[in-house]
Amino acid sequence: MQGIANFIGGDWRVAYGDEVTPVVDPATNETLATVPVDGSDDVAAAVAAAAQAFPGWRSVPPGDRIQFLFRFKQLLEDELATVARAVSRENGKTFGEAVGEIRRGIENVEVACGIPTMMQGYNLEDVARGIDETMIRQPLGVVGVITPFNFPVMIPLWFLPYAIACGNTVVIKPSEKVPISIRRVIEILERTGLPKGVVNLAYGGRAAADALIEHPDVRAISFVGSSPVAKHVYATAALHGKRVQCQGGAKNHVVVLPDADFDTTIKIIGDSAFGCAGQRCLAVSAVVTVGGAHKPFLEAIVDSAASLKVGCGLDEGVEMGPVITAQSRSRIEGAIARGTADGAEAVLDGRGIRVNGYPRGNFVGPTVLDGVESESYLSSTEVFGPVLGLTRVRSVDEAIEVIARNPYGNASSIFTSSGASARKFRSEVPTGNVGVNIGVAAPMAYFPFSGWKDSFFGVMHGQGRDAVEFYTDKKVVVERWPQEWSRRF
Ligand code: NAD
Repeated sequence: MQGIANFIGGDWRVAYGDEVTPVVDPATNETLATVPVDGSDDVAAAVAAAAQAFPGWRSVPPGDRIQFLFRFKQLLEDELATVARAVSRENGKTFGEAVGEIRRGIENVEVACGIPTMMQGYNLEDVARGIDETMIRQPLGVVGVITPFNFPVMIPLWFLPYAIACGNTVVIKPSEKVPISIRRVIEILERTGLPKGVVNLAYGGRAAADALIEHPDVRAISFVGSSPVAKHVYATAALHGKRVQCQGGAKNHVVVLPDADFDTTIKIIGDSAFGCAGQRCLAVSAVVTVGGAHKPFLEAIVDSAASLKVGCGLDEGVEMGPVITAQSRSRIEGAIARGTADGAEAVLDGRGIRVNGYPRGNFVGPTVLDGVESESYLSSTEVFGPVLGLTRVRSVDEAIEVIARNPYGNASSIFTSSGASARKFRSEVPTGNVGVNIGVAAPMAYFPFSGWKDSFFGVMHGQGRDAVEFYTDKKVVVERWPQEWSRRF
């Protein structure tokens, strides 16, 4: 067991404070490490280091700043398996899923290498006779990044590469449930020779997050987590005059039409619902079947889900790992019970599953609930576990209405071979990420991760061009240089 060290000003330092919380392996509930409960003093030290490093870092030309990112990308590729094992162990997802997550993180490093182009401003000569106007982008200063447990590496990398490529310095406050793999990533970043203090890592829980959000030297906050916390972070950061982007929770629906290609549809929706044990903000947790699609879809998805091999994510052949904590398992089992109490039928019930060799693991088996009422608790609550609810409607319009009644707006998908139905859905559905015959509509790093409604609070999203907008201030310069002044020399 290891007490986690913070990375502050280029040094690995033992955290302040005696009170710690254990980090557990979700497959065994063994303690892997401990993190400080509070962490606010560590955050203060990290912000001070980041503020000190900022003037030097912002004056490094963008073309030189990205050289560190090129090295970072290569080292991440070289260390992929080591980091993936750390992700799988502390988060529970399978090794393959961990590799996939790191690849999506690396994609953001690659995109941020385009900063010398992406960060350019624009100009116009002669806005009035002899007067020119130019917009340039400048870094903000110290930015704070607060991340959730479900993608311990990818989500910090949604922000870190763009923030530093734009010339900012960063303090990351990762989830206290998964502190180990991000430490490996920062160790790798350290090997690039990045100047001290440009990236800092400070652990802790709510107090550490609040210390970062309220700190007067922090200019902007990027947050990803559940919607209630996202709302709190958004409001608090705004109260303290900060720029803020908060990605929240989700309840993602897919609509299945009778004309869908069922083999592809079942495979994709199965992966989307039960991959990462349903702990993805883009996981499908509600299927809305239209007309005759219901019966064949239900039968096929139950067969497919029942055949998934559940176990420790690091074991060969395992297709679905445990959920993050024993509390999560109880919460998910409670949501299934609530669904059946409200009239849904548990056609496949994953409660109480036993996994050989892992008697203490936080396992919930794949669960399929049929007949979830569109106004019920389960239809509007984020379960964040391997639970798929089915609701039956008569038309695409009705399916869109079901989705629209949901408080979340992260993602939705449609499965159909009809271009007209797909086009209508794409145009009318009120979610920010949309899939057409795609189960997890995760935008590539050069597109914004576009949640809507209670799934996002802010204006500029994570990734791509939005990240550059978010992490820079625009400065507009209006200049007059009359010829006659030059004649004085
Ligand atoms: P969480 O909200 O519990 O925690 C997220 C972060 O906020 C952690 O670093 C945590 O320490 C901190 N935190 C927790 N409570 C806080 C408080 N009261 N004040 C300040 N900070 C606080 O989320 P989680 O359980 O780690 O992650 C799962 C959630 O994240 C799900 O709701 C999921 O949908 C969401 N998520 C969203 C996206 C997205 O892109 N929209 C991506 C991944 C995960």
